[in-house]
Amino acid sequence: MKHAALFLDRDGTINYDPGYIKDPKLVKLYPGVAESISELKEFFGFLMIVISNQSGIARGLMTHQDVRAVNKRINELLAEKKTSIDEFYYCPYHSDFDDEEKCSCRKPSPKLVFEASEKHNIDLKRSYFIGDKISDVECGINAGLKTILLKNTIQDSEIIHLKNEGKTPNFVAGNFTDACEYIKKDFMEVSA
Ligand SMILES: [Mg+2]
Repeated sequence: MKHAALFLDRDGTINYDPGYIKDPKLVKLYPGVAESISELKEFFGFLMIVISNQSGIARGLMTHQDVRAVNKRINELLAEKKTSIDEFYYCPYHSDFDDEEKCSCRKPSPKLVFEASEKHNIDLKRSYFIGDKISDVECGINAGLKTILLKNTIQDSEIIHLKNEGKTPNFVAGNFTDACEYIKKDFMEVSA
């Protein structure tokens, strides 16, 4: 049987985003993130997959090791609540510096979602994307996922723009806990 998964943006969704974060000591999770991830994994069997754009690498602001150190720190913090991200995917490229082929992993492209889905045998129709940016919603829609937009960093005008483009997220959440409450209810309805 295929797994349901929660695809998660990283910066601005799981952890506060000071901008091109590379120092693991600066990693701070949003309230409720560890608890919600733990509950959705333990009681609903969701896989947790991070899909992140990390163009700071293309821009020369950080290295692959920096990205991995932050990922590792996130899982250390989640381990305090006895949970974890199952796998972190990221796209290090940006169109200002890299060719189109390389940039094909960058959200809103669904490429990394499909890669994860194949590797982990994920049922995309029963899976979700949570993110804080327009490109997260677009990536989720492009991958055939239900989408939840977090109002952590986004402007109201951007949300209106998304709706005008016919890209309305399935749910707009004030915080991570509310996003996961929506997912729990929706998933139970779909699975009933
Ligand atoms: Mg983000």
